[in-house]
Amino acid sequence: MNNALTALEARIHADLARTAHPEAAWLTPRLGPDDRPALDVLVVGAGQSGLAIAFGLMRSQVSNILVLDKSEKGQEGPWLTYARMHTLRSPKHFTGPDLDIPSLTYQSWHEARFGEENWRRLDLIPRALWAEYLLWFRRIVDLPVRNGCEVIEISPAAGGLLAAKVQTSAGIDTMFARKIVLATGQEGMGDWIIPESLRHLPLSLCAHTAQPVDFTSLRGKQVAVIGAGASAFDNAAAALEAGAAEVHLFCRRAEIQVIQPYRWLTFRGFLRHFCDLDDAWRWRFMRAILEMREGFPQATYDRCARHANFHLHEGAPIEAAKETARGVELQTPRGVFSADFVICATGIDMNFAGRLELQNCAANIAVWADRYQPPMDERSPRLGRFPYLADDYALRERVAGDTPWIADIHVFAIASTMSFGPSGSSINAMTTAVPKLVHGLTRGLFRADIERHWASFRAYDVPQAVVGRQKPAMGEER
Ligand SMILES: Cc1cc2nc3c(=O)[nH]c(=O)nc-3n(C[C@H](O)[C@H](O)[C@H](O)COP(=O)(O)OP(=O)(O)OC[C@H]3O[C@@H](n4cnc5c(N)ncnc54)[C@H](O)[C@@H]3O)c2cc1C
Repeated sequence: MNNALTALEARIHADLARTAHPEAAWLTPRLGPDDRPALDVLVVGAGQSGLAIAFGLMRSQVSNILVLDKSEKGQEGPWLTYARMHTLRSPKHFTGPDLDIPSLTYQSWHEARFGEENWRRLDLIPRALWAEYLLWFRRIVDLPVRNGCEVIEISPAAGGLLAAKVQTSAGIDTMFARKIVLATGQEGMGDWIIPESLRHLPLSLCAHTAQPVDFTSLRGKQVAVIGAGASAFDNAAAALEAGAAEVHLFCRRAEIQVIQPYRWLTFRGFLRHFCDLDDAWRWRFMRAILEMREGFPQATYDRCARHANFHLHEGAPIEAAKETARGVELQTPRGVFSADFVICATGIDMNFAGRLELQNCAANIAVWADRYQPPMDERSPRLGRFPYLADDYALRERVAGDTPWIADIHVFAIASTMSFGPSGSSINAMTTAVPKLVHGLTRGLFRADIERHWASFRAYDVPQAVVGRQKPAMGEER
């Protein structure tokens, strides 16, 4: 390790020690049905969100926690798996998991690794470095993370606890926790979408962006990319750079969307107080933003546009797809196109029933469509399927009383977006959204223990000072 990094790590420990107040432990572990102490919080997902949440909890002296991830260490989230851009899309100065501790920011780490001049000259953060930073962050703040552990079922357990069934290479274990946070990423409450018209195609001809794609096999081939967000361009670029003969990108809209609504909303007022708005305003804003979808940075576009064999088709939704002897025939209002392989960059959809973790409550999770009827011109069945979360990011019941235990399952993902605005699945919202979630978790834990706190207060008899009383003088006694 270089000297600058060693010095930075020492500074971080000093910064954390200086800002640790109040340090008193305030939680007493509850015993689970297995007679072992249950966790106060189990965080599912060790991507950037899970790590930041765990850090926030530890800073609040909630340290009886565990973070689980089904991936191997270093393979969490998209960065070294299915992300196909060279650099992050967000500006380099956006802070995130550091939760506003300057020495823990990406910038501090980058400067310690590569020097201040290198940071000044850096345009966007290389994604592999972001992944490396996250691993460093996890080590330096000493987070309790276990990899290779997939939560495959959550159910209620005795004593108001939750039971999480965890699949590991050694078998199935059951862990008990007072609260569970699902920081399970973009597809955490559903899955990636393949448009209806393409769903019948085999995997050998069609994949979505989160699936593995062997780009070397696309050399000399005709590739179709469906969608026009940043991931669509990343995948088109990866195919072009791998030597595809032609890449055709099909955009449903008449004109491609080049505005980035997430830039507009990046101000403290929106990020912090969006969730305090009434349903009508929350729906109006997030429907407009999520229907617009995210724009793509210039560099993302340029990476494709520099290839003469890249073709952008606007106003070209895929109406039908036919498997042929050669590959696929795609029918669009702009004509019929042939492709050897299709990549769908069409985002995610909510589908609670499709997630193992949610199998015991999927049908009773309240969604926006249950709670709010928008005006005709603001309808969106897709967004109506987003969970309608409580103010601590907890799931709410569709039918009260059927699954009351879901009030201890908190969701921090793209699925939280309709209720909270940018929160999970966004670097720029982390410094406002993670503390809000941590606040909700500590509030729940504190309230649930109020009888114990009262008893503890009543039993508290530690004198803060010793008072010396003079003996009464002779003759003053009565
Ligand atoms: C290609 C791509 C590029 C992006 N680029 C940017 C960008 O430049 N800037 C920006 O601000 N945002 C970006 N985002 C959005 C967002 O920052 C990322 O999606 C980010 O990974 C979200 O972090 P997360 O921790 O919420 O989820 P993830 O990083 O996806 O982590 C979720 C983790 O949960 C684990 N998991 C899921 N289910 C289970 C289970 N049942 N049991 C155990 N573990 C489980 C997964 O293995 C995964 O590691 C990008 C997203 C994508 C997909």
